[in-house]
Order: sequence, then C-alpha cells, then structure tokens
Amino acid sequence: MLANTLAPATTGCMLPRWENTRGDKLTTRAGGTAVTIVPIADSIPALDSEELFYSDRGFDRAAERRTDTEWLSNALSDPATKVLPVWDRKSLVKDGRAVILPYTQVLSEFSQEGWTPEPIFLGLLKEGDHQEAVFALDVTDSRKESSAEESPPVFSGAEGAEFVDLRREGPNLSASEAALLAYGRGLVDWQTRTRFCGKDGAPMLVTEAGHAMKCSSCGSSVYPRLDPAVIMLVTCGDYVLLGRQKRWAKGRYSCLAGFAELGETMEMAVGREVLEEAGIRVLPSSVRYAASQPWPFPSSLMIGFTAEAAAKPFPPELETLASSSASESDGRAGDSSASTSGSTEVDRGDGRMVRATVARGLVPGDLESLTGMRLPEAECDQKELEDARWFHRDWLRSALSLQPGAPELFGTVFGLPGKYAIARRLIGDWLEQRRERPWAGDAIKQVEIENGTFKYVLLRLRDAFGRSKLLVRGSVHASYHNDVYERTAREVRPLGLQLEVLGGGRIEHLAESKLIHVYGFSYAFGQAKHELTAAILQRWFPLYDTITTSDEGY
Ligand SMILES: [Zn+2]
Repeated sequence: MLANTLAPATTGCMLPRWENTRGDKLTTRAGGTAVTIVPIADSIPALDSEELFYSDRGFDRAAERRTDTEWLSNALSDPATKVLPVWDRKSLVKDGRAVILPYTQVLSEFSQEGWTPEPIFLGLLKEGDHQEAVFALDVTDSRKESSAEESPPVFSGAEGAEFVDLRREGPNLSASEAALLAYGRGLVDWQTRTRFCGKDGAPMLVTEAGHAMKCSSCGSSVYPRLDPAVIMLVTCGDYVLLGRQKRWAKGRYSCLAGFAELGETMEMAVGREVLEEAGIRVLPSSVRYAASQPWPFPSSLMIGFTAEAAAKPFPPELETLASSSASESDGRAGDSSASTSGSTEVDRGDGRMVRATVARGLVPGDLESLTGMRLPEAECDQKELEDARWFHRDWLRSALSLQPGAPELFGTVFGLPGKYAIARRLIGDWLEQRRERPWAGDAIKQVEIENGTFKYVLLRLRDAFGRSKLLVRGSVHASYHNDVYERTAREVRPLGLQLEVLGGGRIEHLAESKLIHVYGFSYAFGQAKHELTAAILQRWFPLYDTITTSDEGY
C-alpha cells in the first residue's frame, strides 16, 4: 500500500495521557475519556504588562527614599512600618495570603537573639487614606552553614503561617501580593548571591536601602541583576507554534522562550531561539513587541513578542488545480463550484437512487483547508524542548471551551500555562482575534469521526452568500456512504445551508496510538480528495503525529 505521510509535526513523540496542573482550575470534557482542559477567561482584554502577574501598578516604590537616610531611619522606628520576612529564599504565607508584620515587632523578636539582619526598603503600601513603608527582611540565620541546620522562625501574630516557595505558591495568591512577595524575595536573593566583590573578593556592603551593594575595599557598586528573556507567539496563518519541556505537567504546551545573549537585540533573540528550539525561521520584519512580565525566579524579565513564520508554498499540482477551477468559474455568477460539480443520480446502496451534488475539483477556498500542509515543519532540539508543533486557532478555541465545534478528543490531554503567565496572555489575545464574520456554518462541527475503521464522506457546506467550509464525517454505524451524507444533511437543512458531496472513502482511526489513515473510495460518491481530508484532520488532531493517505483500498 502506498502511503503518504502528511506534515507530521514531529516523529517519535508519544503523548502522555494525564495532566495534573497544580493551581489551575480544571474541567473535564468528553464523557468517559481522560481529558483535562485548563479553561481560559471568556473575554481577554488587550495585553497590558501592568496587569500581568508579578507586576503591580498600584505599588509605590518611592525610589527617591532609598538614599534619604533620615526618612528611612524614621520609617524603621515607626510602629506602622511593615516587613515581609524571607527565610531560605521562601516567603511567608498563611491561608493563601501574604503575611506582612509590623517591623518593630519582628525587630524586637530578633534582637532578643542578639542578631539583626538588614532591612531592604521596598516602597509604600496604601493603607486606607495613608501610606505605610514596607521592607523585606532576610531572617535566614547567615551564621549557620545551611538552612538544614535551622528551623524557620515563628513570629507572634503569624502562628500557622508557612515559608513557601513562591514559584510554586505564587499563582495561588492575589496578583498584587504575589508581586510584592516576588519583589522582596528577589532583592533578598540577589543580596545573598552578592556577598563578595567580583574584582577583589572583599565583602560587599549594603547601600541604597538594599538596592545596591558596594565593595568595602575598592568601592565599586553593583545593582540587582536582571536577565532579559524573550517569549514569543509564533504564528503561520491560523496556526500557532507551541512547545513543551519534558519536566512540565503532562500535555502542557506553551510559547517558546529563551534568554537574550550578549550583543543581541530582543528581535534577534526571538529569531535565534525559534530556530534553535523548533528549527523554524521567523520573518525578521514580523517580530513585534507585545508586553513584558517580571519573572523573578530568580531574576528574569520576560519580554513578549509576536512573530510570523513563512508558510511553505502549496504543492504545484494543487495550485494549478485551484487556479484553473477559479478561472473556469469566473463567468458563472460567483458559483465557484459549478465548474467542478454536477448533479448525479447515485445509488444509495439499497437499490434506491437519490440525487446528490457531487463535486470533485478544488475551489480556491479549499486551499485554506490545506494550510496544514504548508506549515514549516517543527523539529524540536530535544535539549530544551521535548516537542514543538502547530495548533490551529479553531482547535485551541474549542479545546479551551471558547467556542463549540471541537470534535471528540479521544483521550488527548492538553493544557496551557495558568492565567498568571504572559504565555497564556499572548495565546489568549491571539485566540480572541477573529478574522471572519460569524455565519450559520460556525455551529456545524467541521469534523465528526469515531474510533475504529469506517466509511467517511468529504462534504462542502455553503450558505446563500457563498460562505463555505469543508466537513469530514464518518461513523462505524454507517452501512453506506450515503447514510453519512443523509445524516449530515438532516443536521444542516434547518439552518438553511446547502451540502455538496466531494467524495468518500474510509478512515482507519486508532485513537490509542494517535494514528489516522485515510484511503479507499465510495461507489456512490467517488473518491474524495484524501489529502484535503487529511489536512482537515491534521487541524483537529494536532497532537497526532501520523495522519496518512492512500488512494488504494476500499
Ligand atoms: Zn572590590
């Protein structure tokens, strides 16, 4: 049997079956199958860096106070002044809230132990109609070799609170509290790693209320380190490129990302990372800044971009077929399918003859369905990424319950990062962009197939205004291709839509192995253009590695 493999995204990547996404709301779809989907908000506002997690627009950093020693000294003796304790790079949290304590109280409790750590001035917290200074304080006992020798301190008034890893627990906090804790923890972490001068090894002294370190010998100053990283939404038409790392929760995909290197612009870093991680070239002129997000684990700044990858040209024979169909139909009052279709008496299989419109050629709109074949192939490097592949906008929208129309998912596990992450916002914003006006055909699923081997038909759905879309329908319960056609016709008739048959064949679908093979023909309707069918199936089964076609068999 001659089989053509259609645009496999990658080979050899088997998908895991379960996902456990900590901290995200999960819903279950598709009764009886193990599908977990992380839902996305119904409406996603335009990207706004300040609304992303770990940044807080309402917080006043009051940077001018960092060198105002008199003001700082007054603030530290003010009973209203607050402090965020940080121990072993962990933040103090109780019942999903940040624990913020009076500074004077914490100081007195620590003074009793004969040791006073240096507070880091963070800024001013709004408290009613006035502002309170807030500091971060490293309460790790630096006299001990490691935190393993030490148990976390307990503060009066904060019994039951826990020092937690913010990277893990941050998404469970409010955005503003997570931002404040991350800011304080980041500065403490930086100071911990900047104890000695890089030039002469002399001890560093804290200056500027904790925002700078100065060498006690040569006097050179250093400031908190920030690592710029690019994160990019790479698209090709209606497809988006997403990848996954091996250590992520099963089935989770996200935007590609990576650190900028010395001597690079952000735009250059976008192009290099996409090429390195997925083997895909983005169009340099398409790279656009979108938004940024502090990612203080320990010191990244995620700089979000959108970029486009160049599509591969259509196979020449398809271009020729489509353009000849278009020119033939020019004189036919906009009925672009007239040249390639005709009414035919067909044998229903049970001896009765029914009339059905059978069209065999391609019309220009059909090439849209073939976009899946034009995508540049993703080849993940296997070092940073375990998998990288293209996802169609409609599939993502359906999988995230933003619109109806997703076919049965057959146990596929898929998830995106939580709403706290810029990646989710980049993807969500792109999903919200709709290029086309809605029409009645939106309510009709493009693909309805089952697991197993069955007869299928390729159909074209049209409305009176020339809007159309192709449908793939098949069922193990259909004895004849015409049964599938009739059932679909009953579905679309009440909507005033027309249905044409473009041919039939068989589909062998092994959901467990994520394999689909399209082959064979229909006595009643002739042979469908299986490449078209496969392109449509590729769109709706993005996590399948192998969708093949063959013109042979029955
Ligand atoms: Zn020095």
